[in-house]
Amino acid sequence: MNATQKPYLSIVVPVYNEEENVRPLYEKISTVCESIGVTYEVLFVDDGSKDNTYEVLTELRESTPQLSIIKFQENAGQTAAMAAGFEYAQGERIISMDGDLQNDPADIPKLLLKLDEDYDLVCGWRKERQDKFWSRRVPSVIANWIISLVTGVAIHDNGCSLKAYRSEVIKQVPLYGEMHRFIPAMSTIVGARIAEIVVKHHPRRFGTSKYGLGRIWRVILDILAFKLIISVFARRAAPESNTDSQQSYHKHLNPSINSYRVGTLLSLPIFVLGFFLINHDINSAVSFIALGVSVIFISLITGWSLGIAQTCVADLSPLASFFIHRCSRRPIRCFGPPGVLLVLIGGILIFIFPFYGQIVLSIGIFIFVFGLFGETISYANATRVVDYKVDIFLDARDEGKSVDNYY
Ligand code: UDP
Ligand code: MG
Repeated sequence: MNATQKPYLSIVVPVYNEEENVRPLYEKISTVCESIGVTYEVLFVDDGSKDNTYEVLTELRESTPQLSIIKFQENAGQTAAMAAGFEYAQGERIISMDGDLQNDPADIPKLLLKLDEDYDLVCGWRKERQDKFWSRRVPSVIANWIISLVTGVAIHDNGCSLKAYRSEVIKQVPLYGEMHRFIPAMSTIVGARIAEIVVKHHPRRFGTSKYGLGRIWRVILDILAFKLIISVFARRAAPESNTDSQQSYHKHLNPSINSYRVGTLLSLPIFVLGFFLINHDINSAVSFIALGVSVIFISLITGWSLGIAQTCVADLSPLASFFIHRCSRRPIRCFGPPGVLLVLIGGILIFIFPFYGQIVLSIGIFIFVFGLFGETISYANATRVVDYKVDIFLDARDEGKSVDNYY
């Protein structure tokens, strides 16, 4: 492959503190790619590792022309690392996989063959998953079941990173937060045709897993946020639209109307709750009606913000700009936990001081809903949400250049 030629296949590998894994993994990947005879590049995305991962990679790069390294300034998470890899990938076909040798590069040819059967995305299914039973496999089965139910995309193993994509399709799917677990469902927004095949899975030999039980809670919040996003955005596009421009999914939106509808729907359970709790007490009734009305109000502002955010890049509405630039974390991460906490406190308080209990409960629901709306706004702007900062980009095809302000 010379400097101007684009490779056929790009392999994207996010790595965070995987110093012992990157070299054997690269060797396995290159053996497989050489055996199937395609031109390829391997993009390791160093997600702000604190060990010697970057040093090992740069050393490896000296003897291997196919290796590109994207180094983040700081840890931005697996999704951001995957998003950066997809952004920089030059191949017609892309494979993503973990950098800890748990996925097996030997599955790459199988995934590519399946993709050639006219699919846009082929997901790996770790049927014989080699992870802990209670903390990993059980939560994963439940999460996948709920994700299938909520998104209508029946994939057994959303969390498996080993996937194959048509480049033009995955590059259209905005990824942010921890949405790498929702890639199949996200891809349906741009009309992707999805298949899955069983892949191998190995226990981790070197290094440690980067996730603990806290992931379960974050996935629950993500499922809720995702449901809302899907309701607002998923006017599922026809597969032909895959060839459209990067913005094709925007055509399927009518955010003002949809978010108003979603807002109204969300306020319904609050009214129902109010109905059961009122007990002819006018004070309680007033607090719930006020809450329901404010939810509708927020939904209208959201619709308006989304409309402005999509049509006018420079001048974001104050609410959109708050969610995108002022929130230090994703809106659901900022507002979800305090919202849930207040709901719990309010739920207990209601038995002792019904009136104050209701107020606390209402504020909790309000904060939670506010976070959910922030999520839809962030999603609409995902292509402009700076999730990661690239420190150095060493391209396989040239001497390497420093990228200070990628955005
Ligand atoms: N990873 C990353 N950034 C993070 C966390 C993880 O790039 O903040 C990478 C990690 O190095 C690995 C992959 O994502 O290559 C999957 O992580 P891990 O193996 O810890 O997840 P598990 O297999 O336990 O689900
Ligand atoms: Mg792993």
